[in-house]
Amino acid sequence: MTGPFAHGEDAFLERLRRRFAVPAAPRGGLGIGDDAAVLPGRPRRVVTTDLLVEGQHFRFDLLAPADLAVRALEANLSDIAAMGAQPEAVFLGLAWPRGAAASRRLEPFLAALARACRARRVPLLGGDTVRAPQGATTLALAVTGLPHRGGPVLRSGGRPGDALVVTGALGGSALGLALLEGRVRVSREAGARRLAERAAARYRRPRARLAAAPALAARASALIDLSDGLGLDLPRLARASGCGFEVRADLLPVDPAAARLLPPDEALRLALRGGEDYELLAAVAPGRLAGLLRRLAAVGVPAAAIGRLLPARAGGRLRTGGTVRRWVAAGWDPLRTGRSRGLDAAASRSVLPAGRRRPAAG
Ligand SMILES: [Mg+2]
Repeated sequence: MTGPFAHGEDAFLERLRRRFAVPAAPRGGLGIGDDAAVLPGRPRRVVTTDLLVEGQHFRFDLLAPADLAVRALEANLSDIAAMGAQPEAVFLGLAWPRGAAASRRLEPFLAALARACRARRVPLLGGDTVRAPQGATTLALAVTGLPHRGGPVLRSGGRPGDALVVTGALGGSALGLALLEGRVRVSREAGARRLAERAAARYRRPRARLAAAPALAARASALIDLSDGLGLDLPRLARASGCGFEVRADLLPVDPAAARLLPPDEALRLALRGGEDYELLAAVAPGRLAGLLRRLAAVGVPAAAIGRLLPARAGGRLRTGGTVRRWVAAGWDPLRTGRSRGLDAAASRSVLPAGRRRPAAG
């Protein structure tokens, strides 16, 4: 790939950061580069915005208009949760193409977005819509939020020795997409089909970990959401914190459907590189780890310690049994890889030995 996006999203963000450099943190504010911007002043409001383009981020043959509404909202709420904040208000920018097929999709999309906003108790307070002449449906959501006590939590607060904690399980959404695209097949056996449906639902209707945000605001030293996959998002947190890191493969919470339906090495690869799980990854000082895990359990959020931050010179490592491998930053980068990713993407750059590509079970 050539052109302005040739080096991927992180390089492009770095360019933006340089071009729009603000005089260091004006009155407590924070510019480009975290899950959300932090506005100066009190209260310390956070703002995130997200762009979704048909053909690049979603396809209507795999995603109903109502699913698109939920995904778009939850992806933004996840960035708010990743600041240790609660959502305050939603703004919607919409370019909806002309034509009968596109018009039929608009009403179910809007109805589902209204339902999702009500369910999350976050009002839609404004925006802008245009009838696009042709081409891709495009939506841009912006969400503002207010930090919980102890927040906002940035990516940059981690220290060597901090434990790395991840909520939920990883790889389910990427498996769901692979199933919907027919890249993975399962048997007709009822148990396998149920697992496959659950994975597809993880892709179609992700759920941001808003319930975890208060506990993380109080105790985490650094925080990021896993939108592009642990492979990319963990190095982002570590780099912002000026740290290296080590993850133990045996501690990774692999999505149960991926663990059942795929060979172990493929399931692990999805857990490392599958994007769009919208789980949270936190760095936590060792003395606060037990308290954090207790509080997360109390609000019904599963969480696991998967490794720790190290001094920067250690780089990134994945420990599998007695073997330690260099971490290869790979995952879902919309500017570099388009929508291709997951099971067969970037196999040559895998942190794992190239394994079988067939599903083992189901
Ligand atoms: Mg994020």
